Amino acid sequence: MNSSYSIKTNSQGRKVLIVKGIVPIDQLKEVTEDDFDMIYVEDTGQSHYELSYQLQNMSPFHSLKCHLKPCFLASTLKNRILNLAPIVDGFADKADDKAMYERANEIIDSLALIDTFDISEVKRNNYIYFLKLCKYAISRGMHTFTISLEEAYAQGHTSLFIAEQKNFSSNMKDEFIYYNHVMLELGYAKRKEFLERIHVCPHCKESHLFYMEACPKCDSSLLKEEPVLHHFRCANISPESSYAYDGDLRCPKCHQFLRHIGVDYDRPSNVYTCRECNHTFLHTRMKVYCSSCKKTFRPSDLLAIDIYNYEFTSEGILALSSNDAMVAVSKDIWAGYSNFESFLSQIRLFSYSRIKNEVIYINRFKVDGPHVNNEIVMRIVSDLQKRYHYNNISYKGKYIFMATKAPSDMSDALWKQMEEEHEETLKIIDLKYTGITLVEQDYLQQDENEKIDTFIKRISKFN
Ligand SMILES: [Zn+2]
Ligand SMILES: [Zn+2]
Ligand SMILES: [Zn+2]
Repeated sequence: MNSSYSIKTNSQGRKVLIVKGIVPIDQLKEVTEDDFDMIYVEDTGQSHYELSYQLQNMSPFHSLKCHLKPCFLASTLKNRILNLAPIVDGFADKADDKAMYERANEIIDSLALIDTFDISEVKRNNYIYFLKLCKYAISRGMHTFTISLEEAYAQGHTSLFIAEQKNFSSNMKDEFIYYNHVMLELGYAKRKEFLERIHVCPHCKESHLFYMEACPKCDSSLLKEEPVLHHFRCANISPESSYAYDGDLRCPKCHQFLRHIGVDYDRPSNVYTCRECNHTFLHTRMKVYCSSCKKTFRPSDLLAIDIYNYEFTSEGILALSSNDAMVAVSKDIWAGYSNFESFLSQIRLFSYSRIKNEVIYINRFKVDGPHVNNEIVMRIVSDLQKRYHYNNISYKGKYIFMATKAPSDMSDALWKQMEEEHEETLKIIDLKYTGITLVEQDYLQQDENEKIDTFIKRISKFN
């Protein structure tokens, strides 16, 4: 595909980025985020696959410069869009289209009420990605959704999720379901109506299942189904094939020929014969094969999931529009061990919030001793993580970080708790690790009016 782009300002002063072919917008030095308000994709004869790749380069979720911006396609691309429809705002015959501008204006106006965050900082975190889906959904007026992963029931931001999910790892799907539950618990969404009860794989929770009839003895599905014949006179019941005799039907038991169905015999039902083990039976046993994890189950093993329709609440829309939701949701992902990069990113996330009634304290210290190596530091981190599972723990080189947060009116108690934890940590080290001491111990806290970048620098500055 030939690729090129141009930026045109429309009659209402909106700057339209007109894209032909695959343009790696984020890598182009000459185009900045402020150079365009919306995107229009021309039809250059691209296939669905090429279109999908093209849109990935301008993703409303992953691209820095296209972040949440309205995106329209040439009308002729409508039949090539398929599952990507939820991430496209509409179609227009040409880049200069009145209806398209009206829709774009609506979206841009909604986006003005939504706080975004520096996605280059936080894009590694799945929950942040889900929050971006919500922000996108809200800016497009998609206020209802269902938590099913079943495409047939996908709506709202769940269909956004499905449009994107080919790029997802499997644990992300679990996290997405969990995230939706967190939204319910926080009151950001509420249940509307029951839609359906579906059954999914108990192992991987996927719904791409095959139901197969199998032999109750050996579980093979290589079965032959045929009618059984009931000979009234001698009461013999056996498969029709056992009656076959030189083109006629003859009873295998009493050797009489069968003449008239309904008079001297009938076909009460069908019978199965297993071609693997020759077992004959009336009822097959169902087995269920999961095409995703390749495991086989009984239907009774399957997990029943009730599918409801959900709706963002007005509190939810407010919280998700601001960055308050980010902090509320990240509370759940706060505790435990994080690598140093995510650790810093979580601290940064915290500062994006408008909720200023919480404080973070960090206890930082260095592991010292003649034989200190990475393995010993990791062992200590693991011990501390078990003991202080409610803190956020990380390490870099020989430095260990334990971050703790609480409402600011509890800050004295928090301080005391942190000191006690440190006293205890010293005892643990003393007991378990001979020749190891903790040095350069320091409590860090973001000062009032201190910029987050400065604080982050302070946290990661050590000898
Ligand atoms: Zn069998
Ligand atoms: Zn007979
Ligand atoms: Zn499975």
